[in-house]
Amino acid sequence: MKIAILSRNPKLYSTHRLVEAATGRGHEVRVLDVLRCYMDITSNRPGVHYKGEVLARFDAVIPRIGASVTFYGTAVLRQFEMMGTYPLNESVAITRSRDKLRSLQLLSRKGIGLPVTGFAHKPDDVKDLIKMVNGAPLVIKLLEGTQGIGVVLAETAKAAESVIEAFMGLKANILVQEFIKEAGGADIRCFVIGDKVVAAMKRQGKEGEFRSNLHRGGSASLIRITPEERSTAVRAAKTMGLNVAGVDLLRSNHGPVVLEVNSSPGLEGIENATSKDIAGMQIQFIEKRLAENSSAASLTKTRGRG
Ligand code: ADP
Ligand code: MG
Repeated sequence: MKIAILSRNPKLYSTHRLVEAATGRGHEVRVLDVLRCYMDITSNRPGVHYKGEVLARFDAVIPRIGASVTFYGTAVLRQFEMMGTYPLNESVAITRSRDKLRSLQLLSRKGIGLPVTGFAHKPDDVKDLIKMVNGAPLVIKLLEGTQGIGVVLAETAKAAESVIEAFMGLKANILVQEFIKEAGGADIRCFVIGDKVVAAMKRQGKEGEFRSNLHRGGSASLIRITPEERSTAVRAAKTMGLNVAGVDLLRSNHGPVVLEVNSSPGLEGIENATSKDIAGMQIQFIEKRLAENSSAASLTKTRGRG
């Protein structure tokens, strides 16, 4: 197969591992910097150019699109889709999962466990908004935040009110959320491929920190997850339409709750914590899907002739 990896930097652990896994399985791989791709959107023959070169068709594309380049990155990915290249994660699914509010709305419709969450526009709704999520302590999140930046714990209703009003004054979109204290500053990253959780790790925030992000000094360890956690993670990924996802769960008193569904989950933390070849599993998944697609296509052709 000819596989393209959309990534800004071939030296990143995840990119490097995917290249290694694909090459190791006999595929031809090319890493493309998504911001240096440009698109020919002509009727009937959509194309992608790269540094002056017209790219030949790839069989599959693995998007590793950073949050800061979501708009352009998903547009380039969509262009590959228009050319008939199989995307490991589809552009619409990535766009969907990048919007925290939209994601939670979709997950709530499917009855997937979530922390009680509120969203509002006007400061005069603030008191009722706080009541709606069962009062303080509560968590306030910038809709655009990642890696734990923009996630604030307000210990009292007064603090919550001031922070919410301050963010609203800055015209930032925020979510207000029930604080899952019993999670104890830990969350569970479930790595989903297709309809399976292939690996899971627990991330524990450093002393005195409620955010477990590895970027905020959290540490990862192995964990056994329950069947309920497993099915919650798989259903969450499916709801977003993602083949590959990092689903983050908290263990709450009312069962597992989903915090977010990441469409370009990093490999370094999870491969090191579990010693599993998760890059290889992603390549195998692509191989299987492409084989299914081509046998389905040849079946249609045979039927068409008959
Ligand atoms: P980001 O996209 O910045 O990672 P998250 O929503 O994942 O934002 O929040 C970052 C971390 O903060 C989580 O991994 C979790 O440890 C903690 N956290 C977030 N929301 C809650 C909550 N409602 N209750 C308890 N802890 C939370
Ligand atoms: Mg997170």
